[in-house]
Amino acid sequence: MVRLQKKLFGTNGIRGVANKDITAKFCINMGSAIATHFGSGTLIVGCDGRTSNQMLKSAVISGIVSAGLGVLDIGLCPTPALQYALPHYGVRGGVMITASHNPPEYNGIKVIDRDGVEISSEEELAIETIYFEKKQRLAEWNKIGRIQTESKACDVYKEAIKIHVTGKDEIRRAKLKVVVDPANSVGALVTPYVLRELGCSVITINGHIDGTFPGRTPEPTPKTLKNLSKIVTGVGADFGVAHDGDADRAIFVDETGVVQPGDRTFALIEKHVLSKNPKNKVVTPVASSSMIEEIASQYDSKIVWTKVGSVDVSRAILRENSILGGEENGGVFFSEFQPVRDGAMTAALIAEIVAKSNKSLFTLLGELPQYFNIKLKTSCPNEKKAQVIEIILENTKEYDSITIDGTKILTDDGWVLIRPSGTEPVFRSFAEAKTQERAKELAEWGISLVKDAQREL
Ligand code: MG
Repeated sequence: MVRLQKKLFGTNGIRGVANKDITAKFCINMGSAIATHFGSGTLIVGCDGRTSNQMLKSAVISGIVSAGLGVLDIGLCPTPALQYALPHYGVRGGVMITASHNPPEYNGIKVIDRDGVEISSEEELAIETIYFEKKQRLAEWNKIGRIQTESKACDVYKEAIKIHVTGKDEIRRAKLKVVVDPANSVGALVTPYVLRELGCSVITINGHIDGTFPGRTPEPTPKTLKNLSKIVTGVGADFGVAHDGDADRAIFVDETGVVQPGDRTFALIEKHVLSKNPKNKVVTPVASSSMIEEIASQYDSKIVWTKVGSVDVSRAILRENSILGGEENGGVFFSEFQPVRDGAMTAALIAEIVAKSNKSLFTLLGELPQYFNIKLKTSCPNEKKAQVIEIILENTKEYDSITIDGTKILTDDGWVLIRPSGTEPVFRSFAEAKTQERAKELAEWGISLVKDAQREL
């Protein structure tokens, strides 16, 4: 039977509560399903710092070798370090045990292809089919895979990041003071070292690995980063940087203590990268700010819009041969290094930008185009979402729109993105304009379009 709907994999792999949804038994069966899908060769396995990481990693490894594939266990590492390791060690694929920004009780599985990018939805569906139909391969006793360990993967990754920093002399001369908050997880193994080796003076908070996340929860938000803000201003640092649980994202605090939205720091990196490489392509989801497009046009560059989700951005970067990608949640894809979001690389780029400009992060961000955003939501039963969006498209067909993910309606002085949520029975209306009043008006218009469409059903 061909299944069309994924049941286990979401936008970024499989997620659930450890020992409830994600058990050791589940991981053995899923590990062997993943190995059966890949067919042959060796898979790299790594994990973030959660309390269930060793148990679940051991189970995934048992499943993989039982299907006859080899394992290279690289242990604790950020997701981008594992992604970098795949082409570096030339293996068939990889499995990362992480729940990224989810609360401490969660864990999960991300499956990575040989190019370092997460596998496609079709491949996830193929793995689920093997899992549900119990089609896992069981190797003969003398064909069981070998388990090897590799302790240098994080060092290899750190060195590779430094190679891609062009402002090393300027960073050394600027003597930047940086506060790093890796949320007691694997970012602690890389970012403080990279910045210090580049010549920054580094203070690390929440720097020991502890799966209970005693310092803060793993999602970097203005609320969870209050301590980082205080320390940045308290010690007079040039900036602060915080990661999520697997350190593929980076959120920055400027020297005045303000936690900056991810697309503003992305826009700064975009300006820096395009000033050296004009006439290029920048990939970003439809939810990103117009400032990304405005900066691209200043450098004769084009925006490639994608659905919201890091895998879509990575795949578009490869397809379009783009130099850069970014998301509003602090994911930056610097494809000269690797086409995946990478927290430590992003931290190094911001250090380079601040050092080269001789300006503060606050000043640099203030020079970017200014926009205002409003996010609203309204309820809508999941089964009605497809029809509702059809009606909205029909009712707004006189407007220019981008319909990759919901519909983004473009007006002369702003836009509104109307999108069904992937996880809740709601529609989101996300608007942006040059004034707060206009953004509010557009977001409310988005909500009224959803409500009118539901009445028409
Ligand atoms: Mg993450």
